[in-house]
Order: sequence, then structure tokens, then C-alpha cells
Amino acid sequence: MLGGAFREWSRPFPEWSRPFPTVPNPISQNHSSFIIQKFTMNMNFTEQRTQLITTGQKMYQRELVVATEGNLSLRLDEARILATPSGLCKGEMALSDPVVIDLQGNHLEGERRASSEILMHLEVYRQRPEVRAVVHAHPPSCIALMLAGKGLDRPILAESVILLGKIPTAPYARPSTPEVAASIRPFIRQTDCLLLDHHGSLTAGASLSEAYHKLELMEQVAKSYLAALQLGPVRELDPEEVEKLNFMRENTYGIKWPVIPF
Ligand SMILES: [Zn+2]
Repeated sequence: MLGGAFREWSRPFPEWSRPFPTVPNPISQNHSSFIIQKFTMNMNFTEQRTQLITTGQKMYQRELVVATEGNLSLRLDEARILATPSGLCKGEMALSDPVVIDLQGNHLEGERRASSEILMHLEVYRQRPEVRAVVHAHPPSCIALMLAGKGLDRPILAESVILLGKIPTAPYARPSTPEVAASIRPFIRQTDCLLLDHHGSLTAGASLSEAYHKLELMEQVAKSYLAALQLGPVRELDPEEVEKLNFMRENTYGIKWPVIPF
């Protein structure tokens, strides 16, 4: 049976069901409504900063990033992204550290600067209007498999066949250059989970917790695969069973995010 992670994902996401915060026009609205909306918007903004920081801490604690590696972002509204700044450890961020940028990467708010790796996040947001969060990490077991030319493209575990599908590896692109955005472009409409050759991972979701859980699950599958490879040949699921799992993805479990089936 699918575990807690799936139950979490299969719930309607509160962040997703909430409308985008809009900037109220004081001329067209009465004063009290303006105050209430402004307060709600600020509350959401603080919540979103807190989410970014606590998710960064989890990534660091689970060693999915070390030192100043990795970056996270979430969509605040149609035009603005909240992102982790460059040069900071994701385990040690303060509420004031995240920055606000637009979809072209222009700086809007915050004392720090967004990471140069944010270019690949922006590519995801531009290609996928429904995506609300993007997480980039350097998960060690995923990277080990990728470096050995194995990847995560074999149907070995039932739950990952359903939840993640086949995970492609985007071709190598030099980090922090526009080449990284170009390298993920052919894949990001088909899947929320990518390996980046000689680099790391990229996951997207309808919320930050969803994007983060996909990263955790990818790394867990990679750990099991890596351990199994050391013991001998790894057995794949039977193609007929893979077909049934593919059918269950939407029909039984209601998974809405894009998955590349095996
Ligand atoms: Zn990186």
C-alpha cells in the first residue's frame, strides 16, 4: 500500500485551493476590506517564507544539499516568485533572507540576490503555469547512479512507478548559465522530476511540500537501487504489472501531475 507521502499528496493542497493574493485597489474597495486583504496577504507571505526556510532545513538535515548547495522557490502570484538567495546554507536561513523576483529574474524585493541557478526554476514556471514550487538539490544516491550511467529509468519499485514514473536525465549544462534552462526544456512539461547530468536534481509540484516529497522519494528509490546493485543483478517489475500500475496512477490514486510512464 502507498504510505503517508501519498496520502499527503492525494489531499487537495490548501495552498493550491487558495486564490492568488491580489493587490487591493483602495479606490475601488472600502477601507475595512482593504485592511483585511492586506493583512491576509502579509500573513500568507510570512507563511510562504517560513515554508521556504523549514523545507531548506529539512533538505540540509537529510543531506540532500550541503554547504550552500541547492535552491528552492515558490510562486507568490502570476508574476512573482519567492526564492532562496545565493551563497547561503539552506539549513541556516532567516525569515528575511528569501528574495522576490519576477518571471524574468528581475530583483523586486529583499536585501540579498537570488541564486544564479534560479534560471532553471523560472523555466519551469514559464512552461508550467500550474506549478507552485520548484526544488533543486544535489541528492547523493541519485547523483551516484547518474554518474555510473544508471539513472532512475527502470521500473523497480511499485510505488515509484505510480508516483514518479520514468525519471529522465537532462543533458549536461554548465551550472548557473542559461544552458541549464535550455537543458530541462524538452522534459519539464512531461514530468515533475528530473536528474541533471553531472549536477543534481530538479523537482516541481503544486506546493513546496509536494516538490520536496518528490525529491525525498527519488533519493529513497536511488538508495535502494544503489544497495541492490551491489548485491547482484537488479530485478525489474514484469511489464504487465507495470501496465497495471500505470493504469492505477490516475484511475485509482488520482495523480494529477505529469508522469512519464515506463
Ligand atoms: Zn546545483
